[in-house]
Amino acid sequence: MPNIRIMIPPMNGFVIRGTRGTLPSCGADFLRYGGDTTCFSLETPQGLLVIDAGTGLRHVTQELADRAVPPPITVLLTHLHMDHLIGLPSFGPLYSGNAHIRFMADPNREGDWQHALRAFMRKPYWPVGLHQADAAVEYESLPECHGGMDIYGIHITWCEVPHPQRCMAYRLEGPGCSVVVATDVEFRANAIPDTFVDFCRGTGHLIFDTHFTPAEIDQHAGWGHSTWQAAVALAKAADVDRLLLTHHSPKRRDPEVDAIVEAARDHFPATSGACTNMVLD
Ligand SMILES: [Zn+2]
Ligand SMILES: [Zn+2]
Repeated sequence: MPNIRIMIPPMNGFVIRGTRGTLPSCGADFLRYGGDTTCFSLETPQGLLVIDAGTGLRHVTQELADRAVPPPITVLLTHLHMDHLIGLPSFGPLYSGNAHIRFMADPNREGDWQHALRAFMRKPYWPVGLHQADAAVEYESLPECHGGMDIYGIHITWCEVPHPQRCMAYRLEGPGCSVVVATDVEFRANAIPDTFVDFCRGTGHLIFDTHFTPAEIDQHAGWGHSTWQAAVALAKAADVDRLLLTHHSPKRRDPEVDAIVEAARDHFPATSGACTNMVLD
């Protein structure tokens, strides 16, 4: 793994903060790939970009804890399923009057996303409502992608992917950063649309949902997740440099994730399993 390292990362570079799908996992069988649910972060000199607010967001909170003034923060949401939001109520910067946090999400998904986010974080589910946060909080719907947008010096494009109630994949391009985040997406290896292949084409890192094994997928058609076979087919077709498998099933023990990674690696050698606090560079 020449350009991937796992360490207690500094707050810069693209960092995978949570790799588990559906539910957090804990215990000795889940230590290497980690038990936190989906979250990614990337800090630049201009600000901190976060993708999704699963329990992996707690690592971002820990690393910001010593800063009196957090950087400007933008949280891009892929969708609103609970495993991608469950870390939000305990996100430290929400409780700092010095923090400025902007949430962005797809306005065309089912239901009003801003209302849904505020409904998720309020009494009786949590003692402090999102509307009561000390931080200055803004909400901004994603525009039509067209050429994308620049945030904190990173060029971002996005693309809808098949998943119940819709999900967005994001592509980030910037100095030392070339990543596609495609978590919560259901494609079969022989039916990946050209538009999505083009969206991923030539990226440095493709982070892709491999929640199900080939033996499980037929019983879970329509659940919105993929296998390593689809990940490999996409990685090859889009000519990506590295493939990272993520959204590990909460029941999947480390040796079982190893087996999935090995199976994929036989067909696409530059494959790794995404781990909590893995830094991509
Ligand atoms: Zn998920
Ligand atoms: Zn989902």
